[in-house]
Amino acid sequence: MTDDATIAAIEAARAHVGQPPDDEKVAPYPVNEAMVVHWVRAFEETNPVYTDPEVAAASRHGGVVAPPAMLGSWTLEISAGKSGSARDRVFGVLDDAGYTAVVATDYEHDYLREVRPGDHLYEEISIESLSDVKTTALGEGYFVTVRHDYKLLGSGEAVGVARMRLLKFRPPPAKPKAGQSAVSDPGSPRRPRPPINRDNAFFWEGVEARELRIQRCAACGTLRHPPRPMCGACGATERDTVTSAGRGTIHSYVVHHHPPLPGTDPPFAVAVIDLDEGVRFVSEIVDIDPAEVTIGMAVELTWREVEPDYILPLFAPALGQEDDA
Ligand SMILES: [Zn+2]
Repeated sequence: MTDDATIAAIEAARAHVGQPPDDEKVAPYPVNEAMVVHWVRAFEETNPVYTDPEVAAASRHGGVVAPPAMLGSWTLEISAGKSGSARDRVFGVLDDAGYTAVVATDYEHDYLREVRPGDHLYEEISIESLSDVKTTALGEGYFVTVRHDYKLLGSGEAVGVARMRLLKFRPPPAKPKAGQSAVSDPGSPRRPRPPINRDNAFFWEGVEARELRIQRCAACGTLRHPPRPMCGACGATERDTVTSAGRGTIHSYVVHHHPPLPGTDPPFAVAVIDLDEGVRFVSEIVDIDPAEVTIGMAVELTWREVEPDYILPLFAPALGQEDDA
């Protein structure tokens, strides 16, 4: 399928790597309090420096600033990129070669200065890297790093850089017929493995030890999940862990029917669980017909070997809870 002409076209697309930006997006509105309030409420971000002018004025920022992680939101829009731009050409060549599926694998931000209400941002887009062909759990593909430079309208001062690394891959084969489990077919694609890094290694070491470990701030004791480098309550970076008792209730859930995912057998329920320790955890709900899952259902931890040598902490309806209702 990947003939010489196709390979030559992909190699030719490498001319776009590292070139100056040739596409840009201008934020429709300046940085503003309304978007900040929506964002901090959605993410349960409580730092008053983002919303309280008095507290912010007394802080080292000298006034309200926008959450740095909002960097990409000011210019966000559904866009495939300008026709003829480097991104459009690189993605087009990969689409034509059959690498039509896409998944984001990494998203990195570098913050260069604070952004404040009234700042008006624009974004320049370029291609930073294009890998050699790789074989991954999802299939054969190419990693593409798209670079986004965020700057101030007028001065052009840089405020931040985002790098999104995407895998463009050949889509998985069609879903097996009903009654034929994808999991039991030894030739079926595997579930994608999680990336393990210095922030979440403790969690996967816990899985090895059959412990559901939750990150805890070593300074103020606040628990947080999923793992991240800094405490949202006090800003400290020192951390340790606690082991969850593995009990909670379903806060919300979806039943996944489509698209087909490697190594899974839809439909299955995926829930946001309020753990008794006070943090939320996302898990597939097993040992129950997905149609029977309800909000508020008591669930408990169960260790499942979802594929040979791949064990995940999943949740199932709690046994013996009916009498408590
Ligand atoms: Zn803390």
